[in-house]
Formats: sequence, C-alpha cells, structure tokens
Amino acid sequence: MTFDQNTLPDNPYLLLTPGPLSTTKGVKAAMLRDWCTWDRDYNELVQSIRHKLVGISAENPEGYTSVLMQGSGSFSVEAVIGTVVPRDGKLAILTNGAYGNRIVQMANVLNIANVVLDFGEISPAEPEKLDTLLKSDPSITHVAVVHCETTTGMLNPIAEVGKIAKEYGKVFIVDAMSSFGGVEMDIAALQIDFLISSANKCIQGVPGFGFVLAKEEELIKCKGQARSLSLDLVDQWQAMEDQQGKWRYTSPTHVVRAFYQAMLELEEEGGVSARADRYLTSQRTLVEGMEQIGFRTLLTRDHQSPIITSFYYPEESAFTFAGFYERLKKEGFVIYPGKISAADTFRIGNIGHVFPEDMERLVKAIERNRFWL
Ligand SMILES: *Cc1c(COP(=O)(O)O)cnc(C)c1O
Repeated sequence: MTFDQNTLPDNPYLLLTPGPLSTTKGVKAAMLRDWCTWDRDYNELVQSIRHKLVGISAENPEGYTSVLMQGSGSFSVEAVIGTVVPRDGKLAILTNGAYGNRIVQMANVLNIANVVLDFGEISPAEPEKLDTLLKSDPSITHVAVVHCETTTGMLNPIAEVGKIAKEYGKVFIVDAMSSFGGVEMDIAALQIDFLISSANKCIQGVPGFGFVLAKEEELIKCKGQARSLSLDLVDQWQAMEDQQGKWRYTSPTHVVRAFYQAMLELEEEGGVSARADRYLTSQRTLVEGMEQIGFRTLLTRDHQSPIITSFYYPEESAFTFAGFYERLKKEGFVIYPGKISAADTFRIGNIGHVFPEDMERLVKAIERNRFWL
C-alpha cells in the first residue's frame, strides 16, 4: 500500500519536544486509511510490530516478548506497576524528576507498598544508595528507575542499578520511554525484566499506545495480580498471543499503522545505532551552538542524554519564556518549558524527524531573537 505523500501539507513548525514529535510524511500518510481490528491483515501488522520491537531490544532477545497497550506512555507504566508487583510485594523507586515521581504516585494510588530513593532534580540516581537500601530492607521485591529522565534530560545509570537489583534477586523495571530506539541498549545484557516505552518517542510514531518489553517467564508469573481490568498487562499479552495480534478492546488502528511505517523507517535509517548517532550529533550540534551564543546547560555532559537538553534562562532580566517561545514558533520551532523548581530553564528536544542542520538553523534563529528582547 502506498500513499501520495506530496499531497500532505508541510507542518508549520518543527516540534522540538520529547514526544509528540515531528514525524515523517510517510508516517502521517500511513494513517490515511481505515483498518478493521480483527482482520488478519491488521493483526499480522500488530504481530510484526511486536516481533520487530523484541528484535531491536537486544543482541540476543531470547526469552523476551512484547505487549502493546492503549493510551499514552503513562498507561503502560501503570499497567506494569499495577500488574507485576504482587499484593505482598514492595517496590523501590529511584527518582530524580517528574517521571520517577509519577511512578511513586502510581504506587500510592494503587496501594502498593513502596520506598523512594529521591536524588533531587539534577543528580543522577546513585546505585550505592540502592545497595544500602536493599541490604537493609529484604521485603523489597521490585526496583523501578527511569532511564532518560525527560524532566531534565538526565540519563540514569541503569546498568549499575540493574546489576545491584539483580545481585539481590529483585525484579527490575525500567521506564525507557524517551530513550528506547534512540539510545543503544540491550535489555538482556542489562537484565531488565520489564521495559516501557511508547509510540510517540524515539521510534517516531504518533501518540496513542505504549509498549512493554518483558521477560516472558516473569510476565507469566504475574497472572491474576493486576489491580485494573483495562490495564492488565498479562491479559493483554495473553489475548495478543492466543489470537495472534488481537488487542483486548478497541485498538488505535491508525496509530498502529503509522507505528509500523515508523518501524520500517527506523530500519531504513540503519537501525537503532544509526538513529542514536543522529540524535547524538544533533544534541552536540545544539549544545555547541547554544554555548557559543552564551547559553549554559543545566546538566554536565557526563549525565546528559542525547534526547533533550535543559538550558538556563539567559541573564537578561527582560527574558520571558512566553516571549521567547512565541518568537521561535514564528521562526518554525516549537520548544518546551522547563519543569524543575531549582532553576529557571527551558528545554529543547532533538528526537523525531529532526537533523543536525535543523539544530544549526535553530541556533541561528535564537541568536537573531536575542536582539529582540
Ligand atoms: C513521555 C514519558 C512518559 C509518558 O508520558 P505520557 O505523557 O503518558 O506519554 C513516561 N516517562 C518518561 C521518561 C517520558 O519521557
């Protein structure tokens, strides 16, 4: 099936936000037809997506499976948290931003016993603190951490965290929402039991569903544990397995078709390593350009992800984010406000159909806009 992409209008601006993000015309064009949710063609598409997701998750992904779940990414995080921690379980959550804190909120709403290791807003998670905690509290059964904390752009040391979680025999959960597909990782080598991401991040699809990569033997153990019917991860997986690509309840068909196209385009680009290279080059181009015109990053380079970067507001007292945002939008760039309390920052994302040249154009536009303050 091909679509005439030339009839699609150009977007009025580039989204430099960490999802929804700028997608290709191919991805948008893929949504221009309707699908039946129980039709074989559609279900085969779903199976292919599930298979491809597992395929890019590890060098040797044997023993891993994938589940797709309706809703935004948080719904998939909640499906994992609410399904995999048993009634008598206890979850340790390492947090340094809004998305780690959201997992804490979920655990509290779902009445899941939890312990929080809070590292503030601008420091990475410290594996040693987890070691101390797990030593002192053997009742902990599960450990959760966010890989790229999109709040700031912080990349947490999931390899070290996972190593400790596994030394103590805990189930290891990673919210890799904004990094999966855009940063090279191997879930088998990282010993991750449950990894969560969504359609509208580094795979470069449109919003509408999330997905979970799970170690199958761990997933099966969770049968009957879910605290929600719609967000029962095992039931959803079982339906997809038994009925070969069938979702429980209505699936976001157009979004799924667009995601399939996005997966093909990821392959065409050269896979995750090529995409990770592009993101890294874009992010470096952005930071070097911004530093040249006087901006400073919130995080040091060693903790910085290639996904999204936080910048301090410039010194000029006349600077307002609202004014800056509007001027950049007129130039064709949409940026993101900051989200932390410790400092005044704004954020620029570089995932999506965005290239190092776009970063150069952006820096030039920002330089021009500074004179209008
Ligand atoms: C985007 C994101 C989520 C999910 O957010 P939604 O708005 O529910 O899609 C969760 N965790 C991280 C780290 C994210 O970047």
